[in-house]
Amino acid sequence: MLDTGLKILLVASEVAPFAKTGGLADVAGSLPKALLLQGNDVRVVLPRYRGTATGGPLADFPVQVGDRRATCIVRGGEIEAKSEEGKRYVPVYFLDNYHYFDRDRYYMYWDEGERFSFFDLACLGMCEVLGFVPDVVHCNDWQAGFIPLLMRERAQLSSGWGSVASCFTIHNLQYQGRFPPSVLGLLGLSQEYFTPDGVEFFGDVSFMKAGIVYSDVVNTVSGTYAREIQTSEFGQGLDGVLRRKGQDLYGIVNGINYHEFNPGSDPRIFAPYDSSRPEGKKENKNALQRELGLPLSEGPLLGVVSRLVDQKGLDILFEAAPEMLERPVQFVLLGTGDRHYEEAFAGLAAAHRDTAAAVIGFNGALAQKIYAGSDIFLMPSRFEPCGLAQLIAMRYGSVPVARRTGGLVDTVMDYDVATGTGTGFLFEDYSAEALLGAIDRALSLYRDPGAWRRLVRQAMERDFSWNTSAALYTELYIEALARKGRAQRPA
Ligand code: ADP
Repeated sequence: MLDTGLKILLVASEVAPFAKTGGLADVAGSLPKALLLQGNDVRVVLPRYRGTATGGPLADFPVQVGDRRATCIVRGGEIEAKSEEGKRYVPVYFLDNYHYFDRDRYYMYWDEGERFSFFDLACLGMCEVLGFVPDVVHCNDWQAGFIPLLMRERAQLSSGWGSVASCFTIHNLQYQGRFPPSVLGLLGLSQEYFTPDGVEFFGDVSFMKAGIVYSDVVNTVSGTYAREIQTSEFGQGLDGVLRRKGQDLYGIVNGINYHEFNPGSDPRIFAPYDSSRPEGKKENKNALQRELGLPLSEGPLLGVVSRLVDQKGLDILFEAAPEMLERPVQFVLLGTGDRHYEEAFAGLAAAHRDTAAAVIGFNGALAQKIYAGSDIFLMPSRFEPCGLAQLIAMRYGSVPVARRTGGLVDTVMDYDVATGTGTGFLFEDYSAEALLGAIDRALSLYRDPGAWRRLVRQAMERDFSWNTSAALYTELYIEALARKGRAQRPA
């Protein structure tokens, strides 16, 4: 039985469309809309980074970060949620502090531990100042990791926090927020938490571990990744802590926003199309080829949109590229990240001007043009908690060739030649050969236009909207409330 009308505060360090470096922002921007439309009072909080346009100030209050007394200004905003009944709005709170967040980038500063200590402390302070007592605080990734423990500490001081449940979602275990033990002082927490059962992690303090240990419920963004991170291969040193959670570590795959990611109405692509008239992809392909200076060709176009980091399997992709480009294909990559990958792919494109293009940078509109204009989408990830790019690719009829890991397993169904079922091509081994093998399976099907059209349609018609996953999050919130003695456990 689902209770409705929960008060939920979703906390994330990035939220689309305000600030985005990866999938977390998409989730934090779109899950709340689905929760709102399912009848909840959901609000979102993130830092106010340089350049984000916001509404006026709602409140300001002091935050004690160690010895520093910082001021937090809460600025208002909203996320529009469209539904059949019209538009509704998710309230957004931007936590503004000139010293911590008015900088050129979102992350990777020397005082990262202090910046997000401020953020976690300010989230609680904001609720108190605004008089907003949520039922559940949904914390995402390490940047929000200390909130559950701070809530427990506050509960001892004021009864208000004692009944508020916490949910912690791991979007990517690789980024853990590890800092020297002194960070506990910044958070106003005693050193008694600096133990292996607490927040200590190989001599440091881990924000991620704090979230896992002290929140009422923990989940990650796919069932397969939930199992994988309990092994030493994927656990990034936290597998023991996660194994202790065992059955209590839930997996809920991400959805995508079907209004934003809709090839029938996306203003960023060259021509609209849908699964009943996928021919529109051809127009998008030719326009993309023109934009990138590639010859107009009917052959298969392979696309990549990715952060250029080790996780994404770019070493095996780069190794496979010369042989891949001997096939009758074109290849387009959009990405930014580690310098050596940026240079490698820019160099590859320069050496193969007729068949390859690489755009180094972050460009949301071009990303959509690549999803719409490509036939095949490559995602050879070393590990992948959920992955959104393959979901967007399928929705736009670009068939994923993906490694059999994490959320890719849970969302891409391997094509079966005998039955014609599936939505993409999966490969097992982390190697250039295995990647090429899967590309070749895709290319051989591409030569059969009827079969390829059916596969494209199957991929486009899979439902990756948020409806199902948002309902699962509601159940998880109720489970968290049950642990606080405030709800019946969901069936
Ligand atoms: P991750 O969160 O690990 O980066 P996901 O697949 O979950 O990977 O989400 C990536 C999101 O970021 C997708 O929406 C993708 O289109 C977008 N994206 C990644 N790189 C770029 C880029 N260079 N330009 C525009 N969008 C990008």
